[in-house]
Amino acid sequence: MGETMNALVLRGDWDPRPDYTVSAAERESGKATCASAVWRNPRIQLEERPVPAIADDEVLLRVRACGVCGSDTHCHETDASGYVIFSGPVKLPVIMGHEYTGEVVDVGRSVSTLKIGDAVAPEGMLWCGICRPCRTGHPNQCRHLEMVGFSSPGAFAEYIAVKEKYCWKLNALRDVCSSDDEMYEVGALIEPIGCSYNGMFVSAGGFLPGAYCAVFGAGPIGLGAVLMGRAAGAARIVVFDVVDERCALAVAMGADAAYNSLELAKQGTSPHEVIMEVTGGHGADMLVEAAGAATRTVPEIEKSYAPNGKLVYLGRAATAVEAQLDVLVSNANSISGARGHAGYGIFPNIIRMLSTGRVPARKMITSRYTFADVMDALDRSTRRTDGKIMVRFP
Ligand SMILES: [Zn+2]
Ligand SMILES: [Zn+2]
Repeated sequence: MGETMNALVLRGDWDPRPDYTVSAAERESGKATCASAVWRNPRIQLEERPVPAIADDEVLLRVRACGVCGSDTHCHETDASGYVIFSGPVKLPVIMGHEYTGEVVDVGRSVSTLKIGDAVAPEGMLWCGICRPCRTGHPNQCRHLEMVGFSSPGAFAEYIAVKEKYCWKLNALRDVCSSDDEMYEVGALIEPIGCSYNGMFVSAGGFLPGAYCAVFGAGPIGLGAVLMGRAAGAARIVVFDVVDERCALAVAMGADAAYNSLELAKQGTSPHEVIMEVTGGHGADMLVEAAGAATRTVPEIEKSYAPNGKLVYLGRAATAVEAQLDVLVSNANSISGARGHAGYGIFPNIIRMLSTGRVPARKMITSRYTFADVMDALDRSTRRTDGKIMVRFP
């Protein structure tokens, strides 16, 4: 192992918007709670960095695959004033990348469940395990949460050090994959699929088999919702997006139908009319917002609820939206949000599901790059026509 490694580093200028008040905690830590309010002029490049040293409770992973996330795209895209689009917590500079798998190449002294050669998928939410949210069963809302690739060194790098407690073994996946490369890239999909799982089944409380589902947005989180909805026994899943390629992909991954909402508008109709039609006037029992376009989706969603129907909001955008809350009363509807994928057995359950070979997760990957071309992978992500763009480390 060399002393240094290549890593994709995101830099930017700490330049809070004039109307934004920086908190004492933000000033002290250098971590912006809402990146888009503070970080300006993002710059990304491959740099040489030291291979991280591991603590006693950590393993060193040789990264084998890392997906490009919409949040990565939002960290290098800017608005008209040069601020990043991403609205989550970020501390710069940082090595990017959080949807990853790796091979254990070194283990700390107190590590007891992992050994050199193991294939693992780590959680990207670094929960402390000590604060009140953690100790009451809400690790994704940890008070001291750090996020891999945003406030803690990420996996668009040849190596990453990670605590044993965040790692899940992929061994069960080996049997259904034709090669290790395939296992590692499928494993890197657990993180985004986990966000869909967490929103639908942990936060919103899931649905009964035979339910109707509607998914707004057919990026990776929406596609994950299609996979999980199908696996959980939804009778019908309809998807809405504004990109034809993504609509086609949603159908290929198990949706019953997918509609380009721009095309619907041209035809003088809209998603809520489609939902009511395909559900025979019942409405959707579970609605997933994975578009991050609340101003356009919420007005449709509130006309699409089935009685007792649930909305889970997973799209990220720091926007306010008007909502007609009266429908929640008469229809007993609910709205929940979720972030992350840690805890609740999410990672190990998805590994179990993938290892049956019956969940077509790999279809989500529509482009592949090697790590040397990671900049091209990020550029491509701004087109928003792909499912998942996967970066492999040969
Ligand atoms: Zn992500
Ligand atoms: Zn905590």
